[in-house]
Amino acid sequence: MPDASDIGIPDDIRDIVKGSVTGMLQFVESEIVPMEQEMGSLLVDERKFFDESGRAVDEVMEARRQVRMKSAKAGFYGMFAPESVGGGGIGIRTMLFVEEALYRKFGPGRPLITWAKGFLSQPVLASFVDGPSHMLVGITESVRKEFIPQIANGDKTVCFALSEADAGSDVWAIKTKAKRDGDDWVINGSKQWITNSPYADYPIVFAVTDEDAVKERKGGISAFLVEASDPGYSVDSVLPVMGHLGGDCGSMVLENVRVPADRVVGELGQGFRTAMFGISEGRISIAANMVGMAEFALDRSLEYSQQRMSFGKPISDYQAIQFMLADMAIDIYTMKYMVLQTSTLIEAFPKTGRLPVKEISIAKVYAVERTQDIYDKAIQVHGGMGLSNELPLNEGFRICRTLRIPDGTGEIQRRTIARQMLRGDTAF
Ligand SMILES: Cc1cc2nc3c(=O)[nH]c(=O)nc-3n(C[C@H](O)[C@H](O)[C@H](O)COP(=O)(O)OP(=O)(O)OC[C@H]3O[C@@H](n4cnc5c(N)ncnc54)[C@H](O)[C@@H]3O)c2cc1C
Repeated sequence: MPDASDIGIPDDIRDIVKGSVTGMLQFVESEIVPMEQEMGSLLVDERKFFDESGRAVDEVMEARRQVRMKSAKAGFYGMFAPESVGGGGIGIRTMLFVEEALYRKFGPGRPLITWAKGFLSQPVLASFVDGPSHMLVGITESVRKEFIPQIANGDKTVCFALSEADAGSDVWAIKTKAKRDGDDWVINGSKQWITNSPYADYPIVFAVTDEDAVKERKGGISAFLVEASDPGYSVDSVLPVMGHLGGDCGSMVLENVRVPADRVVGELGQGFRTAMFGISEGRISIAANMVGMAEFALDRSLEYSQQRMSFGKPISDYQAIQFMLADMAIDIYTMKYMVLQTSTLIEAFPKTGRLPVKEISIAKVYAVERTQDIYDKAIQVHGGMGLSNELPLNEGFRICRTLRIPDGTGEIQRRTIARQMLRGDTAF
C-alpha cells in the first residue's frame, strides 16, 4: 500500500523514484548543506558573492564545481542525460519527482543547490545549459573521448550559445557565421544572454554554415563545440537580471575562432534540431522544477498563516487567506499532473514517434506563469516578511518572472501551441 508521499508516482517507476529522491535528498543534506554552512555569508550577501564585473568570485565558483563533482560521483549530476554522453539514462518522469523533491525541500535561493542569485544553472542536477544532456548525443567519437569525461564528472561545463543581440525568439536571424577553411571551421560573430557563458569551458556555439538554406528556413545552422581557451573567443560582459548584482548570463564575442571539423555537434546544417533537443529538455525540466518551487512556497504559507496572529486569530482563520492557499493548491495539482502526463508522452516518443511539442510548451508556460502567481500569493500571505530578503520568496518570484523569457517566451510557447493545433494536432 503506497503511503501519502507516493501519491502520483506511476507503479513502474516507484522504486527508482523513491531510491533517487531519498538518495539525492540525503546526499544534499549530508554533503552540500555543511559546505553552505561553512561558507556562511559569502553565499548570502551579493556584495561578497559577486565581483565588480558581476562575476561570482572564485571561491563560489570553486564550491559549485565541487558540488557538481560530488553529485556526479554520487550518481546524481547527469542522471537524466543519455548514457552515451556519460549520463545515467534515467527517464523524464523520474526527473519530475526528483526535481520536485529538491526544490520543495530546499527552495530557491541556495547557490550550491538550486537556482539562486540570478543563476539559471544549478550545480546538483545538470541541465543542457551547463552539463551532459540530450543536446550532445550527436557529438563525434573523438569529441566523446576528449571532452565528455570532464563534462560528465562535473569538472568542466558547457553553455548553449544560440541567441544574439538581434536574434532571440527568431533564431533564424542569427548572424554568427562559420566558414570552412581546410580541416577547420572559422567562426565569427557574437552571442548574447547566454546562461553559464562567463564560466563555461566548452561553449556550444550555433552558427550559419549555409546562408541559402537559412533564407529558405531549411537548415543551414550548425552547432560547434568551442573551447573557451580557443584564440579569438572572449566573454565581454556578465548580464545581471532582475535586480541582482551579477549572475551567470553573459555575452560573448568570436573573432576568427578556429575549430576542427570533428567538433560539429549533430549533423552539419541541422543545428536547429540539435538546439531543439536542448530547448525541449530545458522546457520540461523548468516545468518540473516549478512544481517543487511552488510546493515550497505553499508549505511556507501554510506554516506562516497558522502562526501569524492578527486581530486575535491566526490569519489562516480568514477566508481571504484560505482562498489564496486553496488557489495555490489548485495550480500545483494541475501543473504537477500536466508535467507528469507530458513526461509520459516524451518517454513514449521512441515507440509512438510523436514528440509532444504542443504539450511541452503547454507545461512550460503554465508551470512558470502559475508559479509566479503562487509566489505572488505567498508574499501576500507573509505580509512585510514576504518582501524581506530573509525569506527566499522574493528570490522565487524573481526566478519565475525571469523564466518567462528564456527557452521560449510565453508568446512563443503560445505560438507553438496554436501552430501545432492548426496543423491538426488537437488531441488532448
Ligand atoms: C536569463 C536569461 C537566460 C537566457 N539563457 C540563454 C541561453 O542559455 N542560451 C541562449 O541561446 N539564449 C538564452 N537566453 C535568450 C532567450 O532565449 C531570449 O531572450 C528569448 O528567446 C527572447 O528573445 P529576445 O530577448 O530577443 O526577445 P524578442 O524575441 O525580441 O521578443 C520581444 C517580445 O516580442 C515577443 N515576440 C517575438 N516574436 C514574436 C512572435 N512571433 N509572436 C508573438 N510575440 C513575439 C516576445 O515574446 C517578447 O515578448 C536567455 C535569456 C534570459 C533573459
